[in-house]
Amino acid sequence: MIIAMQPGASEKQIDNVIERLVIRGFEVHRSTGEQQTVLGAVGAKIDFDIREIELLEAVQQVHRISAPYKLVGRTFRPDGTVVKFANGVSIGGNEVIVMAGPCSVESREQLFSCAEQVAQAGAKFLRGGAFKPRSSPYSFQGLGVEGLKLLREAGDRYGLLVVTEVMEIGQIEVMLPYVDLFQLGARNMQNFNLLRELGKIRKPVLLKRGIAATIEELLLSAEYVLAGGNYDVILCERGIRTFETYTRNTMDISAIPIVKKLSHLPMTADPSHGTGRRDKVAPMARAALAAGCDALLIEVHPDPDQALSDGPQSLYPAQFSKLMQELRMIAPAVGRSI
Ligand code: PEP
Ligand code: MN
Repeated sequence: MIIAMQPGASEKQIDNVIERLVIRGFEVHRSTGEQQTVLGAVGAKIDFDIREIELLEAVQQVHRISAPYKLVGRTFRPDGTVVKFANGVSIGGNEVIVMAGPCSVESREQLFSCAEQVAQAGAKFLRGGAFKPRSSPYSFQGLGVEGLKLLREAGDRYGLLVVTEVMEIGQIEVMLPYVDLFQLGARNMQNFNLLRELGKIRKPVLLKRGIAATIEELLLSAEYVLAGGNYDVILCERGIRTFETYTRNTMDISAIPIVKKLSHLPMTADPSHGTGRRDKVAPMARAALAAGCDALLIEVHPDPDQALSDGPQSLYPAQFSKLMQELRMIAPAVGRSI
């Protein structure tokens, strides 16, 4: 941490800051220039709140240098994390993995038809919500355990792994036999009790960025899971809320290279929720791949016009196949395979 004192700060004021830093466990290095004094403080606790120093008399500026997380930081694993799954699939390596399927599991026919088509197009994961976080309590809430069973059966039939959302602690145990990757949704990104519980299991977690969460907050949420001992966490950009209303959310493509620089964890992009519009999904998926994502999460529905949730942002299967072909052309240009 660097503390710049105001020009003309008195010795008493400077000593007061040094004293506070020492009490808080810092080692302090002082450099006195002609204009002002700058203090370098090292060795603090990771959760130190810099406002404690900012508010002291004659302090001009405080700058934090170390990250507030340790396990998710890139320095912890400079080569990056590769999360391994069954079927030889891994996320975080050279190959970009596509996860596709409907927003919600609605019926056997819907899911199996979708699974067959996304598998044929090259997806490696089948997505689909069995427990759905809906903005309205009157909207379709998902098929629950029945949906989980259908996901597993369809996944196994078409050679796909299964990713689906967990909404509360009580569902974890029930989901374990059916799920390869636990999705933690945007609305639950800061559900700290749920994050802690997911730290105790030994199955990978797909952690989505909250609707109004900063990148640092996303990383701190991931830190909860790693701190519990589960290092298989994959992050996901799914759009954030801004003043723009044309799209459902604003797809923050820049979060991809930023997260890849700050953290060793693999990064996924979800252009479906990121834009909320079918016609914008492919361009954002292509951009996310070019920006360095390790996986893509895409909503596909065999009959989007009849979908019980997120129909307008779900691709028709033919659109998904076309997108996969485009992604196969882009991947080698950025040193990736798909
Ligand atoms: C979903 O993937 O269907 C979903 C609900 O996503 P999010 O949590 O990003 O809104
Ligand atoms: Mn959805």
